[in-house]
Amino acid sequence: MSWENNVRKVEPYVAGEQPKKSNVIKLNTNECPYPPAPGVRKLAEEMDYDKLRLYPDTDSTMLVRELAEYYHVKPEQVFVGVGSDDVLATAFVTFFDSGKPVLFPDITYSFYDVWAELYRIPYKRCPLKDDWHIDVEDYKQPNGGVILANPNAPTGLMEDLSTVEEIIQANPDVVVIVDEAYVDFGGTSALPLLEKYDNLLVVQTFSKSRAMAGLRIGFCIGSEKMIKYLNDVKFSINSYTMNMTAQILGVEAVRDEAYFKETVQKIINTRERVKKELRELGFTFPDSKTNFVFASHKSVPAKDIFEALRMQDIYVRFWNKERINNCLRITIGTDEEMDKMICFLKEFLKDK
Ligand code: PMP
Repeated sequence: MSWENNVRKVEPYVAGEQPKKSNVIKLNTNECPYPPAPGVRKLAEEMDYDKLRLYPDTDSTMLVRELAEYYHVKPEQVFVGVGSDDVLATAFVTFFDSGKPVLFPDITYSFYDVWAELYRIPYKRCPLKDDWHIDVEDYKQPNGGVILANPNAPTGLMEDLSTVEEIIQANPDVVVIVDEAYVDFGGTSALPLLEKYDNLLVVQTFSKSRAMAGLRIGFCIGSEKMIKYLNDVKFSINSYTMNMTAQILGVEAVRDEAYFKETVQKIINTRERVKKELRELGFTFPDSKTNFVFASHKSVPAKDIFEALRMQDIYVRFWNKERINNCLRITIGTDEEMDKMICFLKEFLKDK
């Protein structure tokens, strides 16, 4: 007998590498290659240092209000957290307490099974079809909840809103979470469905399209009842999840809609160009509606390309996992970064 028998043992999620050296081309964690809105910088520089003595607002009132206004919902329908990971983890522990398996695809954000394991929530992975789309019938079996990333990660593929709605409709007695971390890059949000369904929770993040991964801001929108339950759990763990700086700068990021739209459009334009160039080099991939492409080469194994790119200090993401071990997830960087990558790949893949 030892204290170790009483430990809650989990196999943790492995995040993409944050290399310590500078001058790398970092295309491995789907960060935004452009800085946050200029107003965010200005506010950061003018921040009242003395205020850091104080605890932050436990309700993140200003940020919640700003998001409610932006998305045309009531503040009582918005919950914020330390990145969408925090929001999603809180949602898992709050809404998936039935003892029945929670359903999600076999190929999706690999944090879902980690949270399920951590909170002892039974779960079932539903295999994506060969074209990487979900089989909607899989989500009509008895379950304790559903979570879908839409667009999905790491495939980049989007399901139609009608498919999402069919799943919500088929599951009125459980919560359906739609993780829209990448929706701003050309996806269709499920937010309008909130008017019809009170079992839907839509989760988004400031980490990708709003260029603020370092500040850790995520949020979700759902029925007032759901948000109340989320807050009850949050206030039972840690009242002060969001720090003061994140709350203040987050508000400013939402206010600058023009900058947000311009940044997102730049990334979409680069993505579409890179898709063409990768195709010419012999890559295939699902049609991405995100800020990354999930690509396989016709003759060279993904692992070899991953390692060759790394030698050039170009970091992309590779998983040595069943079904996806011949795919590379390549984040869309600046035009210059993508040019460097393509230029190297042209040389590396010559005659292969
Ligand atoms: N959902 C998906 C599908 C993601 O890829 C990520 C990024 N790793 C997240 C949620 C979490 O992002 P964050 O915690 O930075 O908001």
